Amino acid sequence: MPVRPKIRLFVDQPLGEGERVALSRDHANYLFNVMRLREGAMLALFNGRDGEWRGEVVAAGKRAGEAVCVERVSEQNDPPDLWLLFAPIKKTRTDFIVEKAVELGVRRILPVQTEFTNAERIRQDRLQAHAVEAAEQCGAVFVPEVVELQPLTKVLDAWDARALVFADEGLAGPSSASAAVLAEAAPPAAILVGPEGGFSETERARLRGMEQVVPVALGPRILRADTAAVSVLTLWQAAAGDWR
Ligand code: SAH
Repeated sequence: MPVRPKIRLFVDQPLGEGERVALSRDHANYLFNVMRLREGAMLALFNGRDGEWRGEVVAAGKRAGEAVCVERVSEQNDPPDLWLLFAPIKKTRTDFIVEKAVELGVRRILPVQTEFTNAERIRQDRLQAHAVEAAEQCGAVFVPEVVELQPLTKVLDAWDARALVFADEGLAGPSSASAAVLAEAAPPAAILVGPEGGFSETERARLRGMEQVVPVALGPRILRADTAAVSVLTLWQAAAGDWR
């Protein structure tokens, strides 16, 4: 096994044997000013498509730099075709949900506005950057796309055959067999978690009327939205995802 470099960077360029990778101003600042790396230093590079590569720094400037791909250290490995739909909550808790979704493995993250959503807008660019950072830190070679906030009704209007796991706090109870239910939601699938205020009766009725919807209970207690997101992602991965 080749030694893995400590610093992992997501880059938006092709990676392959001998491929030269231009390092952005931000990356150059981080690598050469903050971390004090020099020519010859090793990096781990990934772009979400070509696996992970060991790269060698060949130019280390103050505002730019360059690395060369030396050797592939892991194949591209995409998470199962799972989306996470969630209603944004407070900033730090929203960041937490995005970070954990990347670690647990999703393809796409869709913030949705529900009737009781507190947030009117999100900083999509900031959340996307947060997803990149989470992937850099957890060793994932895939970065899910974080899309702009949209009304849940609009997302449901355009829903196709994808299974939609609906974490319904109205079902909270001791006899809920979540794992067995989740096994039915094979990929392509999505998970929907509501805001602190929960779902409205109108939303619940609409969701329950959709044949793609798989309602699920997460035990006898009401969880906070961020805990619910982590729990249902974990259960799904174990029942229908790539933890099996
Ligand atoms: N204020 C609401 C709770 C919202 S919890 C109430 O008191 O009923 C936030 C979200 O987490 C919910 O919309 C749901 O998607 C999920 N959730 C929390 N606990 C759950 C449980 N026991 N079963 C299923 N979903 C749950």
